[in-house]
Amino acid sequence: MDQIPEFRVTLTRLRLGEEAYPTEFERREEALGQRTKLGGRPDWEQGRRDNPQCKKCQRPTTFVAQIDSVEYGSHHIPHSVNWMTDEQKWMFGDVGLIYVFFCFDCLEPHAEFECG
Ligand SMILES: [Zn+2]
Repeated sequence: MDQIPEFRVTLTRLRLGEEAYPTEFERREEALGQRTKLGGRPDWEQGRRDNPQCKKCQRPTTFVAQIDSVEYGSHHIPHSVNWMTDEQKWMFGDVGLIYVFFCFDCLEPHAEFECG
């Protein structure tokens, strides 16, 4: 795929203890597709684990962002696109997320991917 549709991102700084989206297990389904966020800790799809190590200095990287499958086909999702059409582009595997990390010492980025 050459390109995916462009979105403007609006940022809201959260207060200490506030969450970017509901993380309780009972509300997991309604959060699918809406888990894009910057900072905090990664919300791993396949169970909690440590941040990846920097490829240069071998120290743990810092979590920067996670990008969700924002076109997940559900009536809960504002940008939902029917998966039966060719129009759904923002879908990483099975409603997966891309995680971005950074080593602030080496200026080295790192990315991971997980889906359910
Ligand atoms: Zn490093």
